[in-house]
Amino acid sequence: MSWATKLVKPYRVEDGKQFRLKDFDPADTGRLHSKGHAEELLARGVASMAELQDKLYAQDRWGVLLILQAMDAAGKDGVVKHVMSGVNPQGCQVYPFKVPSEEELNHDYLWRSMRRLPERGHIGIFNRSYYEEVLVVRVHAGTLKQERIPSSLVTKDIWKERFEDINAFERYLARNGILVRKFFLNLSRKEQKRRFLDRLDEPEKHWKFSAADIREREFWDSYMGAYEEMIVHTATKHAPWYVVPADNKWFSRVVVAAAIVDTLEDLKLAYPKVDAGKRKELQAARAALEKKNS
Ligand code: AMP
Ligand code: MG
Repeated sequence: MSWATKLVKPYRVEDGKQFRLKDFDPADTGRLHSKGHAEELLARGVASMAELQDKLYAQDRWGVLLILQAMDAAGKDGVVKHVMSGVNPQGCQVYPFKVPSEEELNHDYLWRSMRRLPERGHIGIFNRSYYEEVLVVRVHAGTLKQERIPSSLVTKDIWKERFEDINAFERYLARNGILVRKFFLNLSRKEQKRRFLDRLDEPEKHWKFSAADIREREFWDSYMGAYEEMIVHTATKHAPWYVVPADNKWFSRVVVAAAIVDTLEDLKLAYPKVDAGKRKELQAARAALEKKNS
C-alpha cells in the first residue's frame, strides 16, 4: 500500500449505509502530528500528482472529476490553490458553481454540470456542484420553488429521487471512463466561527466575507443533517465520498492530495507506446535534422 492509500483510507466512504457524521472528527489529524510533516507529504503528493497528470493527459483516455463540498470557510478555495499547485493548468479545469442563473434555472438541474464536465485526459474540479441540489436546496424550500418543477413531480420522495438520479449519473460517468471523487471538507461549527472572526479582523480577507455566510451558519444543524443523508445515499464504490477533517487546513490539504494520488495510481497510467511506423518516422526526423545543412 502506498503512503497515499494508507493516509486516505480512514476517510473514504464507499458504502454509505452505516455512515454517521458523528463518527468523524473534524479535528482529526490521523498519524500526522505536525504541520511540517504534513507539508512535506503535501509536497510529495503534489509532485506525484504532476507526474501522474502528465500521463493522464498523454494517454487521453480517462477523465477525473473532483467534487468539493463544504460549509463556508471550510477551505475549498485553499484546496484548489494548494493541492493543484503542481499540475499543468492545460490539463486541469476548475469550475465554481454559484446560485443558478436565469438561464440555468430554465433547465433541469444537471444541465449546467454536464456542460462543465472534464474532457478525457483532464482533471476537472467542481467547487460546489450538483450536490447543492440536496443541500442548500433542501435546507431552503424557496430555492426548490425557483426551479419551476411541475408540482405533481415534487413529492415527499424528491430527495430520495435526487439521490437515485445522482447515483445513476455518476455510474454513467464511471462507465464512460470519467472517474468521480467527492470531498466533504468536514469543518466544526466552532472552527467556522474562528475563521469568520479572522476574516473580519483582516482587511485582506474582507472580500471573502458575506452577510449571507452568517445567515447560513444559523442553519448548521439542518445542513449537517442534509450532508449526512447525502453521504448515506450517494457514497458508492465507483464514486466514493472522502470525509476530510477540515479544522486543520494543513491536514485537509494533504488528505485531498493523497486521495487524488491514490485514485490516479489505481489507473496504472503509462505514456502511450509508439508503434513501428511511428518509430520509423522518429528515426527519419533525426536523420533529417542531423544532415549537415539542415
Ligand atoms: P460561494 O461558493 O461562497 O461563492 O457561494 C456560492 C453560493 O451559491 C452558495 O451560497 C451556494 O449555496 C449557492 N449555490 C450553489 N449552487 C446552488 C444551487 N444549485 N441552488 C442554490 N444555490 C446554490
Ligand atoms: Mg462563500
